[in-house]
Amino acid sequence: DRLKESKVYMRALFDYIPLEDKATPCQEAGLPFKRGDILQVVSQDDSTWWQAKRVGDSNLRAGLIPSKQFQERRLAYRMKMGTLPNPKSPKKPVSGLRRSFRLSRKDRQGSSGECSDPGASEFLTYEEVTRYQQRPSERPRLVVLIGSLGARINELKQRVIAENPHCYAVAVPHTTRPKKPHEKDGVEYHFVTKQQFDADILNNKFIEHGEYKENQYGTSIEAIRSIQAKNKMCIVDVQPEALKRLRTAEFKPYVIFVKPRVPESRRRPSVSPCINQYFLQQDEDLQEMRQSALQIDQQYGHLVDRVLIKEDSASACAELQGILESLEQESFWVPVSWVR
Ligand code: 5GP
Repeated sequence: DRLKESKVYMRALFDYIPLEDKATPCQEAGLPFKRGDILQVVSQDDSTWWQAKRVGDSNLRAGLIPSKQFQERRLAYRMKMGTLPNPKSPKKPVSGLRRSFRLSRKDRQGSSGECSDPGASEFLTYEEVTRYQQRPSERPRLVVLIGSLGARINELKQRVIAENPHCYAVAVPHTTRPKKPHEKDGVEYHFVTKQQFDADILNNKFIEHGEYKENQYGTSIEAIRSIQAKNKMCIVDVQPEALKRLRTAEFKPYVIFVKPRVPESRRRPSVSPCINQYFLQQDEDLQEMRQSALQIDQQYGHLVDRVLIKEDSASACAELQGILESLEQESFWVPVSWVR
């Protein structure tokens, strides 16, 4: 009966294997889970061991999981002992992405007041979540694409929008480059002076900005709002660092991590040195792609709602479209702070 009553749900932000947990009072009573699982917390009576059940499990018996406080405490201890990296220390930027760009000031300082990134200020334990279904009167959720090396998320975004221009749109970026004759201000870009652009950076107007051929480019928060005001779903493709800035109740972002399917490197018969060199280079490229995906998964995986493995452009586009359609029809787990 208590099971039915509990309305406390937590998204696990780490993997838990009771059999490897020396602290548990009873390994057999432990509930194993993986990062991303939704746990219904049945009892928080004990401050160290909660009783919980995995949503979707047919098993009705609850198991023991470490409480948030306890898990935080032992992570803090491990960090002090040097067996865990400091989550607050600056993270290495993820390499090899679409364009070279710098984060807006706020992100670099890592102090975004309104953000609800559980990784930004604390240890990755649990995030309290609730079921959320977008009502027709509400503005569409923001869709955020992040991609590892080789995912080509910009192309994917453009393609899905070109196929459904009435439903989806990109936020119009700002740029300091001169307008071309066929372009219209506010359509391809908002054309601004360098001075204006610099002022906008200082005023934290951008979710991301960067330089290309000595011109500045950036996407503003306002540009996202103005798409949503037209009741269209706004799709942005950003560096994962920008997630912190976008994870707000206002945007309720749905984060899709696109990674290319990377084939296994195979042993090849040795041929001429020149061809060998070609294969070696290819293997190195594949290795780099795997590495990039792994790095994003480790640093940002807990913020990802969905992973899309990209086989080719057409099938990825169809899959993305399916996901976008479901966003307006189904309910999803979101942080409780987004709906309170
Ligand atoms: P173009 O000047 O040819 O329209 O765009 C040149 C390049 O500017 C694009 O290929 C892209 O790399 C970069 N760019 C366009 N929009 C943005 C943006 O919103 N942010 C950033 N950082 N770069 C952009």
